Amino acid sequence: MPKKQKFAIGVDLGGTNIKFGLVTDKGKIIKKETLDARASKGPDAVISQIKKGVASLLYSEKTLNVAGIGIGSPGTILIKKGTVQNPPNFPGWESIPLGKIIKKEFNIPTFVENDANAAAIGEMIFGAGKKLNSFIMVTLGTGVGGGIIIDKKLYRGDTGGAGEIGHVTINHSGKKCNCGSRGCIEAYVGNNYLIRDVRRSLRRNPESILYKYVNSENKELSPKLIHEAALENDEFSLSIISGIGENLGYGLSSVINLLDISNVIIGGGVAGFGDMLFVPLKASIQSRVMKSFKERIKVKEAKLKNEAGIKGASALVFYRS
Ligand SMILES: [Zn+2]
Repeated sequence: MPKKQKFAIGVDLGGTNIKFGLVTDKGKIIKKETLDARASKGPDAVISQIKKGVASLLYSEKTLNVAGIGIGSPGTILIKKGTVQNPPNFPGWESIPLGKIIKKEFNIPTFVENDANAAAIGEMIFGAGKKLNSFIMVTLGTGVGGGIIIDKKLYRGDTGGAGEIGHVTINHSGKKCNCGSRGCIEAYVGNNYLIRDVRRSLRRNPESILYKYVNSENKELSPKLIHEAALENDEFSLSIISGIGENLGYGLSSVINLLDISNVIIGGGVAGFGDMLFVPLKASIQSRVMKSFKERIKVKEAKLKNEAGIKGASALVFYRS
């Protein structure tokens, strides 16, 4: 008799929106829902939105075999009760046993994990890490998230905070980072920092296509716009993207030297920039890793793309159950 197909509900908890998806054990989303996070109204409001979204997917498909609920959340997670601690952009939150609360409400297994770690588990279960034993996952966005998979298991560290690749120092006297340190990778390639730097250097590059986009065509400066200009062969924009690759590569080579993990998966919007990012990134890693590692190193783009949040969260269920 064929095994009954399993499903999971993936919840991608963000500061603005909460995205929900009913996902098959092969990683296919069959139903989606997005709700306002209502984060400014405090934790109770957020929790009631999560319950609402989960209920709408769970009760609409009563005949399905839903094996569990997976939640990808910002902040540090205590795995046992799925406690979410101090997620940035969630005022008044501090420490909430979110997993326990959701499990009690629906009476099905519920797993909570940090969103960057969930993205790594998502790539391992459904994506570019499926055939790999160990890999380093980096998600490029507003922040620079990381997750480390060792022998098909997420490495969580002593407190669940492992994999903060964004806060590896690449310049000891470098720019201030939100974490309190200096010269972190995130302070160079995190979207907000990057846009701030580009805005400053744009004034010195009035001949660039990017300058024209921003100043004559009133387009909003964003990583996407930088990519558009780079596709027009704008040298200034190309140099920004290769700078992202170089800076990321400096930090990654330290992580590779430390762990001897040969595979790196890059996710997040910027990962879609293709060779203009990946060529300088690979060269930067090659220029700094131990000689004996060089030939084995592979850097590739994540597979889950736009739906990485929902799919990563749902993968928590198939990974743990
Ligand atoms: Zn930092």
